[in-house]
Amino acid sequence: MLQVKRKSQITFLQCEALNGRPHIVHAFSTRRSERNDFTFRASSGNPILEINRVRFLAAIGAAGWPSLKLKQVHSGIVRDMNDTSAANEALEGDAAVTGLRGVLIGVQTADCVPILVADSQARAVAAIHAGWRGTAARIADTTVKRLFSFLGVEPKDLTVAIGPHIGVCCYEVGDEVVEAIGDPAVFERRAEWPRAHLNLGEANRRQFLNAGLLDEQIETSSLCTHCSQDLFHSYRRDGKKAGAMLSVIGIAE
Ligand SMILES: [Zn+2]
Repeated sequence: MLQVKRKSQITFLQCEALNGRPHIVHAFSTRRSERNDFTFRASSGNPILEINRVRFLAAIGAAGWPSLKLKQVHSGIVRDMNDTSAANEALEGDAAVTGLRGVLIGVQTADCVPILVADSQARAVAAIHAGWRGTAARIADTTVKRLFSFLGVEPKDLTVAIGPHIGVCCYEVGDEVVEAIGDPAVFERRAEWPRAHLNLGEANRRQFLNAGLLDEQIETSSLCTHCSQDLFHSYRRDGKKAGAMLSVIGIAE
């Protein structure tokens, strides 16, 4: 379970297992601050986004940390960010891994699954944006493999937090999604539902299990972004006017 916390008027979620890891800083944002419009959705020239970033990082104990940015494209691409020259340009991809200290990596979501990963000795962290396309492209599995090949971190040393995302209750999908995911165990069908519903969090959890992690290394949020209107932005619920949450992780120096 992830826990809801509030500091300096900013509400966010944290994973207790990640909090127990020395040097690891992390959080999943919500839409709640003084009002319910706390967002990170990019819209050109909106100064509130930078203010929100500064306030969020201060609330979670990462004031002033630079962020390495991703240009999210719903892919299976995992970026190795061990070079701060990436800080000024957003690299195309949907997951990032780094061993750098004092910087954050992060992903934005508003129904898709945000996933934060750290190893037991704070050698590396990862942030993943997993929508159905990234999940079908096995982005969680690829991230685990990259942490090993690039930074030497073994699956047995990882802790994974699967953040708030659209629940199986609300995530009706078409046949193309059923086909692309290719794992019948992560779909639910009910008489009152016209089409299959996808459990996107479970689909990613199973990728981590296949990659060699044990069940106890993975914590999954049970909150549905579509149902929990007071806490989360949801693209499927609010369409183009939906805001976005930011989920970040980093290693303290
Ligand atoms: Zn729901």
